Amino acid sequence: MKITDLVKTSTGPFISIEIIPPRKGVRLETLFAELEALMAHKPAFMSVTSHAHEWSIEKVDGKEVERMKHKRLDTNAICIAAQARFGIEPTPHIICRGFTKDETEDVLLTLHFHGIENVLALRGDGPPTRAGTASAFANEYASDLVEQIQRMNQGLYLDPIENADKTDFCIGVAGYPEKHFEAPDMKTDLANLKKKVDAGAHFIITQMFFDNEAFYRFRDEAKRTGINVPIIPGIKPLYKKEHLEVLPRIFHTKIPQAVIESVSRCDNPDDAYKAGIESSVAQCKDLLAHGVPGIHFYSMSVAKPTSDVLRGIKS
Ligand code: FAD
Repeated sequence: MKITDLVKTSTGPFISIEIIPPRKGVRLETLFAELEALMAHKPAFMSVTSHAHEWSIEKVDGKEVERMKHKRLDTNAICIAAQARFGIEPTPHIICRGFTKDETEDVLLTLHFHGIENVLALRGDGPPTRAGTASAFANEYASDLVEQIQRMNQGLYLDPIENADKTDFCIGVAGYPEKHFEAPDMKTDLANLKKKVDAGAHFIITQMFFDNEAFYRFRDEAKRTGINVPIIPGIKPLYKKEHLEVLPRIFHTKIPQAVIESVSRCDNPDDAYKAGIESSVAQCKDLLAHGVPGIHFYSMSVAKPTSDVLRGIKS
């Protein structure tokens, strides 16, 4: 089912989860054992992150040879396997950086072949990782990728494909309640978010945030900018003291002072876990009271913290 239909038909707020593919060498059963605990909460969909290759030029027998390495297992293979095992709607993340438009088209056609209907279109971070991927043959911004997917939805491929079906993807994009770190200001960032929606994005999942007021302001401003697609808040369960420093640094988010104080005064990891989860539960309850269509949990493939937050919301 398309995520937009799910939002329309859901009788109450839904939950969804995001997982990160395991590092190479892990067996599917190991990942599925962790996912089993999350599936018990009946997520409406599961998104799976995607990561650019590490690309290098190495000398072999005096000749320069291109080398590409992937640290993590394949996003699309995980989506296809999870769909078969759990009957869940998988939402693979598709990134521009490090991929040509031809590679993106191939991946999307494989997903279409497997009946996957939802994708999250993202730019990715870091410099283009390969020769040829910073060119006219690659997508620069997420809005360019949305355009490519929408062309495929009209049956327009990079080169004509005889007797090819049109694809029919429901497309999600990223939104930033505290502004994307590269954007000069919120107004510019929202204008760029609107470009993604105008290019054909159907829903938005936000970057993680801890200050709901920032989210409510963003949601109101997005509406004023003419963005009328569902906005799903992305929530990261906070459960370690280290999160107080790591999450703001990596994800350009601010943690409210009250949360910092309640977690940092704990003198052992169990108490810090409890204080963090309590703050995530309170954050989610407040979002639900403010009419969000659902909550997307950044589980990072670790079941317990997300499960504990979900149990807390129900209690
Ligand atoms: P864009 O929408 O392209 O925006 C990037 C920046 O460029 C913004 O500052 C924007 O304001 C600006 N901009 C956009 N269009 C234009 C334009 N036409 N002209 C000038 N400026 C413009 N990263 C991964 O590598 N893998 C993942 O799986 C992944 N999953 C994510 C999931 C979610 C829900 C979120 C919120 C982020 C995720 N990311 C992932 C991180 C994401 O790739 C980074 O945040 C990245 O820096 C921006 O991606 P974007 O799709 O928002 O880019």
